[in-house]
Amino acid sequence: MGGLFASLLASFYTTLGERILFFIYGKGRKIYKKESIWNKILTKPSHCRKCNTNISPLFLTPIIGGLLTKGRCNTCNTKFSYYYSITEFLFFILFIINLYFLNNILFSVIFSFFIGHIIISMITDYNKFILDYENLPFILFFGVLSIYTLNGSLPGWDNLYVGLGFFITFFLVVFVYPTGMGMGDVFYISIYSFLVGHPLWIFFLNTAYILALLSSVLTLKKNEKFLKKKIPMGFYYGIAVIITYIIKIYFKIEY
Ligand SMILES: [Zn+2]
Repeated sequence: MGGLFASLLASFYTTLGERILFFIYGKGRKIYKKESIWNKILTKPSHCRKCNTNISPLFLTPIIGGLLTKGRCNTCNTKFSYYYSITEFLFFILFIINLYFLNNILFSVIFSFFIGHIIISMITDYNKFILDYENLPFILFFGVLSIYTLNGSLPGWDNLYVGLGFFITFFLVVFVYPTGMGMGDVFYISIYSFLVGHPLWIFFLNTAYILALLSSVLTLKKNEKFLKKKIPMGFYYGIAVIITYIIKIYFKIEY
């Protein structure tokens, strides 16, 4: 039941991330009135982006729904991405592992919400280089609660020092070299490093930049200059913070 709940949550958050892009930053902004946008974002039934047909409940089944539709819209045959099913499956597996090895249902639930909000930031940054400030309080809230339910204590002074150190360093970087990254990146990396604390911030930072470097090199097109390539760092910070938390969980299980 818990795994099912987590995969439903994954489905909710991936949809939410895409709807924020469409309704707040994309074409949807012009179609609907400002007051009704959040209402539309949260209540419009799942539908095909192309032909607007609602998706039948059977195909909304987490994880296997995507396989049942054979990855296509039943009406207009538009292809759906398999990444919905993959994300739902990852949430499912993470929940089961957390519950089985930690025997901590509260943490398992809160951690699912936490990575849900990280997924939103990853989707918006990857597609449009947007890191929502509105999402930050949720990340902070569920991140702190995850630490509390995992360790039984709130983040300490060392977390605060790490977060502040990151904030000052990256703020100066943006100040000196403003085209490199935005203030959104500064806030996100500071909050993530605050949440992972000392000494895991070293692992977090390295993972984010190694992943960004590797995938930028691998996806570099011909005639594209590496130093000119725009990199969605918020996306890589997101992956890195999730991996770092998985390491935290592993230490908890092992020691
Ligand atoms: Zn369709």
